Amino acid sequence: MLQIDDQGMLVSAHVRPRRFSQIERQPLTDVKGIIVHQTGADRASSSLNSYANAKANGAHFLIDKDGVIYQTASVFKRTNHVGALQARCLVEYSCKPAAFAKSKGFSQASDVDRMHEIEMLKSTPSRYPSNVDSIGIEIAGKAFLPPGKSAPAGATPKQKEVYFNNHSVYEAVNHAQNLSLRWLVSELRQTLQIAESEVFRHPVVSRKNPTEASTASW
Ligand SMILES: [Zn+2]
Repeated sequence: MLQIDDQGMLVSAHVRPRRFSQIERQPLTDVKGIIVHQTGADRASSSLNSYANAKANGAHFLIDKDGVIYQTASVFKRTNHVGALQARCLVEYSCKPAAFAKSKGFSQASDVDRMHEIEMLKSTPSRYPSNVDSIGIEIAGKAFLPPGKSAPAGATPKQKEVYFNNHSVYEAVNHAQNLSLRWLVSELRQTLQIAESEVFRHPVVSRKNPTEASTASW
């Protein structure tokens, strides 16, 4: 069991406090799950630098390449780390796509938002944990385009970004990182009473590059 101080910071020799109020949002009162991410950056330091910006987004914990765990937000505060939820009942085959039938005039982007709104009418475990009720763990790790893949010549910056998001691959989570992740997930689950079934890789719960955290183990 972990000791958590009255600011929502873990009291443990294994966790370095580096709290950024810039990434904290409303109070987080009931933790239902844990979402595991990779940052897209090689080192924790670049994520830590970005968290210092006003209204930055981040998660509660950040694991560096050498396995060092930083706590970057209070566990009593929400952070924006999940995005629009996928329908859990569709993924788990307990409902039919008709439950999310398109309304006339909805664009692709609006369908994503609409599905998220329908999901948020439910509570966990009928839906996946979201920003309102989950702890986020980021693992430092780059995404890169595999050899031979590059955006078509003449692509706009936006098109290049979309191409990168669709075709890039995250580097493998290393052994030191997975050892730290295993310890942190286990301690958080015990202390905050989170069910084993409610720990997810980010691409499972939201539309993300499927390789993000695919090599994470806990
Ligand atoms: Zn993520």
